[in-house]
Amino acid sequence: MAKQVYFFGNGKAEGKGGMKALLGGKGAALAEMTHAGIEVPPGFTITTDVCRAFYEKRRKAPRGLDAEMRIHLKKLEKAVGKRLGAPEDPLLVSVRSGASVSMPGMMDTILNLGLNDLSVAGLSMKTGNERFSYDCYRRFIMMFADVVMGVDKKEFDGLLKERKRDRGIESDLDLDHDDMKWLANRFQFHYRERVGSAFPQDPMKQLSLARDAVFSSWNTPRAAEYRRLNRISDDLGTACTIQAMVFGNLGENSGTGVGFTRDPATGEKKFYGEFLLKAQGEDVVAGVRTPEPIAALEKKLPKSFRKLKLITTRLEKYYRDMQDFEFTIQEGRLYMLQTRTGKRTGRAAVRTAVEMVAEKLITQEAAVARVLPEQIDQLLHPVFDTEKRREFKTVAKGLNASPGAAAGKAVFTPGRAVELAEQGERVVLVRAETSPDDIAGMAAARGVLTSTGGATSHAAVVGRQMGKPSVVGCSQIRVEEEQGRFRAGKHVISEGDYISIDGTTGEVMLGDVPVEDSEIVQVVQGRLSSRKSEIYPYFEKFMKWVDRYRTLRVRANADTPKDAILAAAMGAQGIGLCRTEHMFFDPDRLPLMQKMILAETDEDREAALEELLPLQREDFRGLFEALAGKPVTIRTLDPPLHEFLPPRADLMVEIEKCRSAGGLDDVIREKEKLLERVEDLHEVNPMLGLRGCRLGINLPEITRMQARAIFEAALDAGKAVPEIMIPLISDVAELANQKKVVNEVAKEVFARRKKKIKYLVGTMIEIPRAALTAGVIAKEAEFFSFGTNDLTQTTFGISRDDAGKFLPLYVSEKILPGDPFVAIDRTGVGRLLRIAVEEGRATRAGMKIGICGEHGGEPSSVEFCHGLGLDYVSCSPYRLPIARLAAAQAAIADGSGKKPARKKRRKR
Ligand code: PEP
Ligand code: MG
Repeated sequence: MAKQVYFFGNGKAEGKGGMKALLGGKGAALAEMTHAGIEVPPGFTITTDVCRAFYEKRRKAPRGLDAEMRIHLKKLEKAVGKRLGAPEDPLLVSVRSGASVSMPGMMDTILNLGLNDLSVAGLSMKTGNERFSYDCYRRFIMMFADVVMGVDKKEFDGLLKERKRDRGIESDLDLDHDDMKWLANRFQFHYRERVGSAFPQDPMKQLSLARDAVFSSWNTPRAAEYRRLNRISDDLGTACTIQAMVFGNLGENSGTGVGFTRDPATGEKKFYGEFLLKAQGEDVVAGVRTPEPIAALEKKLPKSFRKLKLITTRLEKYYRDMQDFEFTIQEGRLYMLQTRTGKRTGRAAVRTAVEMVAEKLITQEAAVARVLPEQIDQLLHPVFDTEKRREFKTVAKGLNASPGAAAGKAVFTPGRAVELAEQGERVVLVRAETSPDDIAGMAAARGVLTSTGGATSHAAVVGRQMGKPSVVGCSQIRVEEEQGRFRAGKHVISEGDYISIDGTTGEVMLGDVPVEDSEIVQVVQGRLSSRKSEIYPYFEKFMKWVDRYRTLRVRANADTPKDAILAAAMGAQGIGLCRTEHMFFDPDRLPLMQKMILAETDEDREAALEELLPLQREDFRGLFEALAGKPVTIRTLDPPLHEFLPPRADLMVEIEKCRSAGGLDDVIREKEKLLERVEDLHEVNPMLGLRGCRLGINLPEITRMQARAIFEAALDAGKAVPEIMIPLISDVAELANQKKVVNEVAKEVFARRKKKIKYLVGTMIEIPRAALTAGVIAKEAEFFSFGTNDLTQTTFGISRDDAGKFLPLYVSEKILPGDPFVAIDRTGVGRLLRIAVEEGRATRAGMKIGICGEHGGEPSSVEFCHGLGLDYVSCSPYRLPIARLAAAQAAIADGSGKKPARKKRRKR
């Protein structure tokens, strides 16, 4: 096997910053910092290759690893001048996980390894601090039991709490050396009871067991869930770093902390973080003690503070990105333990990207490539309604860890959060503190509220990354998880009561506060001045850069003039789909539609359509005007007609009620007639029944009315480019039939109005047969638009309306890699798209082709469409910025991105 272990220490490192895949983010950063002369405790990293081999060998270390580790341990002992676990002056190490992609808090770490009943006494002697050494020992026993032997850490926390209660002590800091000694003993006793054997005293045995446990922690349920949520491959594996311990719990001049080079919630360029004096490792992020803001370190340990600021500024410049760092100060000496790219909210992502371009730290291209489409999505999420929130009582305020508005029923366990969310409830997860095991509950909740923990606690970090509004460290509330309630002053909030949390201000309100559009949406709709919005100017600038790189155009799915106006403001370059049926669902139009459907003669139907015509014309005119000359694709009627009629069962009940109440005969007869028609139209399989072009073929007067409304509206609007789209065809003859109807109407309208406009007649490709015969269809079709909702439904033979009942299991059992209704199935549906593009354009060179299924706003599908060479993607107006960014990133990634025009040099 290749080299399995990489050393770093004494200013030299075998690894490099670029070796993330092999050494994990942590191992690579430690190597890089060592090269850069930054003080890092020495150690060595076992590669991710070893982790993969470990799993191949059914969780056994590969051959040669132990020997290679021993060589590196010797080197480490030499560098520190101490021997692992030696009784008189022991070297202690941490054993830390670290994958190539950061998974904060999801895998395990063990500190203080090397302590045993003898070396703990040696450490006391050497440091002259018995409290400290036994504190380290009891922590080690607890972590080892938890991570290696699977004995829950909470059991040990319970013993600690008992001791504090017996001694009448509030804070851990008030425990003295006797308490620590007692605890170390008690923990060992508990270990033996639960594990069935004594706590291992041999440091080498401790080390190999801890290493294997760290590798195993790659596959804990929470780590697997985190990977699933963040689409990280299960095959990467983690590295394992073994590093000399430095101690933040050694005394007054010692401490530990974590921080960010910029504010990860807002992006503001300010030193941001927290620390705890006299504390070790996990204390800060675990949210057990609420730490102090980093600014306070300047007063307490000014020299260390200045050095920390200097080093982290240097690290940010070096990595050209916001850094999330961990440090420990041991008796006034600063050590860096980790630096990595900081997780951030959407707001912070956009602001830091824009500001780093201004600071000449990165290029515009790097800025565009860096912000994730989901982060842009977060910026468009709703916020609380400013007016209405005043009517609700604010009962507490905590740290504003992750911005945004969340309202829902309070729940107190992650399990309940998942359960209720599955039933369609909005929930807010309330916890004393969150642990990495809460990940599924956090994902299911609208927001997260915790009573302890700081702005870098697990809840805060994960909340920000998920874009979940989070308020943490809210000490004004008392959470009683077991009783399923929390107290805020005199208020008691139980499971199921509505609460609202504002992650932007940190406020907690009683009740279900209504939300309103995000700042961005308010600005684009002209309801808020851009000067009053903090984030809009950054967003605007960023999106300008985005548009410079992308080659794929973006259109919107918009059915009403109101949607179309928003779409244009969000950057739509046209409308890719107007579902005309949505115009008929309007309560004052539905009766007209029903009249048309119920008509018994052609004349009656024509008369009803005559009434619908002016309404449609007005709608279409609104669309054309909003788009001011950009193309507008209007689809002829698509859904089965029964969708416009009341459900059969409802009608039967109504008729019965009417009869028993002695209703008028006329009224009863009307209702019976309606019931008869509903029964006539009833279909066993309506999605495969009389819908799409089949409607227009059966009732051409509908297509005729719609075409007339489109052409008259286009002439009225002046600047208009209509593209008329026929849905659900499977054979070219269906399109030819409908195209003829449309063309006849066009001729008639143009002659009557003595004016012509250009228009196209095309079709949706949403049935596999249409994709497979695209070459022939292109003889008639002047454009294609992929209806990937129906195409996915018909390719898989999975009903899009019923998939929710069984598809989640397919995804969790990995029968399918993901939900094909969310991201395009490239293998099957994607293949049909490719055939249709190639054969369609072989018949009609340069044919305009787009996509208007829901996939048009999903980043990986947008990337696929870019690769296929489509002209545009079309999606909901709210998803347009995401589609624009995904398109730009796809173009940058394959090198086809347009380069921003250089300024021309002026001639002298
Ligand atoms: C589609 O099928 O992808 C489509 C856009 O049409 P609808 O969702 O209206 O069926
Ligand atoms: Mg469809």
